[in-house]
Amino acid sequence: MRIFGSNEMAADVIQRGLCVGCGACVDICPYFRSYRGRTAMLFPCTLPKGKCHAFCPRAEVDLDELSLQFFGLSYGDNPLGTYISVKAARGIYPVQNASFQAGGTVSVLAWLALKNRHIEVAVLTDREGLLPVPRLVTDPDDVFSCASSKYTAAPTLSAFNKAVREGYKRIGVVATPCQVIGLAQRRLNPMAESDFMDCASLVIGLFCTWAVDFRSFEPYISGRFAVEGIKKMDIPPPPAQVMEVYLEKGKAELPLNDIRGFIPAGCSYCWDMTAEFSDLSVGALEGRPDMNTLIIRTERGQQLVWQALKHGYLQVEELPVENLEHLAEAAKNKKKRGLMKLKEDGLFNTDDPAEHACLRMMPEVAEKIIT
Ligand SMILES: Cc1cc2nc3c(=O)[nH]c(=O)nc-3n(C[C@H](O)[C@H](O)[C@H](O)COP(=O)(O)OP(=O)(O)OC[C@H]3O[C@@H](n4cnc5c(N)ncnc54)[C@H](O)[C@@H]3O)c2cc1C
Ligand code: SF4
Ligand code: SF4
Repeated sequence: MRIFGSNEMAADVIQRGLCVGCGACVDICPYFRSYRGRTAMLFPCTLPKGKCHAFCPRAEVDLDELSLQFFGLSYGDNPLGTYISVKAARGIYPVQNASFQAGGTVSVLAWLALKNRHIEVAVLTDREGLLPVPRLVTDPDDVFSCASSKYTAAPTLSAFNKAVREGYKRIGVVATPCQVIGLAQRRLNPMAESDFMDCASLVIGLFCTWAVDFRSFEPYISGRFAVEGIKKMDIPPPPAQVMEVYLEKGKAELPLNDIRGFIPAGCSYCWDMTAEFSDLSVGALEGRPDMNTLIIRTERGQQLVWQALKHGYLQVEELPVENLEHLAEAAKNKKKRGLMKLKEDGLFNTDDPAEHACLRMMPEVAEKIIT
């Protein structure tokens, strides 16, 4: 992995519009801060190599390096990444009235991991108004107050950095694919620190096609609704072309064409729809709004699912073949779009030592994805 300093990161990632506001560079040093949905460098730093650059999911990501580390395999062309199995799932809620996004699988698994002391703390994303706010949660029951999707890109990994600083050794994280990649970069120990410890004991990734930029989305929404009265937002799968806004009384619909106008430039380079470097990935299930699609990727993810099943906290069904095919197609299309954009902008597999490559992967694998 090629690692540079914060000045290169500010120039190559932030100023070029590649930043996705994941928070991996925030709260590891005094220089980077997140403010109302944007990441900014407060002061220049003179170090030639920094953790900010090493952890950033838009600086230098080598997919073979990540895949070998987490799965012991070279990165392949399966659009869903490496996995053990894919299921339909639903959480069996230990609480009443929580506002889950879909089947509540994510919240129930995070709750169980905390309750069983598999993790000491969970890094989750709450909201204040429409602003996504990362939280460190240690009381299992507090997991449910962070349920539901915040469609604004969130600096969730800043809370992971805080948890490490506070001395937690077993940390659970719920994260979008870009955040999962930032975390995976960190888990490689790219700075070769002698006292390094991989504290990410559980990574639950969320499916993501795109997010919206808080600064432009907030005025659009607050011009239409009282933000305090918004209970939840949802984007149902196609053919619906709307964003649903659940209010104190009833539900409103906004045209998806309007909402797409708020997608930040950084999302257009994104090639990962299913959070491929997590233990478990969770998304919606087409045609079943009360359930999730659950991808089990690692042994430790599998163990948590078995525990949840054993104690009756999770219901699992076979995923219909048709759903799996749709998911793989959507993931492949996103990967193709992301790779094409990276190639067009000269950010893919560059040989020039002076140029950074946002993404590196074997050319023959990229070719299979693109064609
Ligand atoms: C920006 C975004 C885009 C998404 N796009 C898709 C998509 O295209 N297709 C699809 O199938 N699913 C998508 N999802 C995932 C989906 O909305 C649900 O999160 C998922 O199905 C889990 O449902 P659940 O009921 O188990 O979640 P819940 O039990 O309600 O838990 C939701 C969890 O998500 C976390 N969270 C919420 N917002 C964020 C955020 N911005 N960043 C990091 N963590 C967050 C919370 O901490 C909470 O733990 C998206 C989610 C987000 C945040
Ligand atoms: S993508 Fe994440 S790590 Fe990179 S500059 Fe933006 S907030 Fe920092
Ligand atoms: S589309 Fe990619 S970059 Fe954008 S929020 Fe989702 S995972 Fe992050």
